[in-house]
Amino acid sequence: MSEELQVWIDQDLCTGDGLCAQYAPEVFELDIDGLAYVKGDSGDLLQAPGVRTRVPLHLKLEVIDSAKECPGECIHLVGE
Ligand code: SF4
Repeated sequence: MSEELQVWIDQDLCTGDGLCAQYAPEVFELDIDGLAYVKGDSGDLLQAPGVRTRVPLHLKLEVIDSAKECPGECIHLVGE
């Protein structure tokens, strides 16, 4: 049994380039403030600071790649 992977974004460091939303639009989205946020299970943007969302298994690689490529180094994985 592997642990559930969760992800959160530190918006203070987000450059707003949108790379994460290109990699995994089901998990990340840019808001009108130009910063990226994680999405909840129903697709709603979660905007509380440090809030985490569950990474669906089929998007795990995309989310890990997003975290690696993120120019702000502000995508954080928990439980990997
Ligand atoms: S890839 Fe990183 S810096 Fe770029 S929009 Fe996403 S969270 Fe922000």
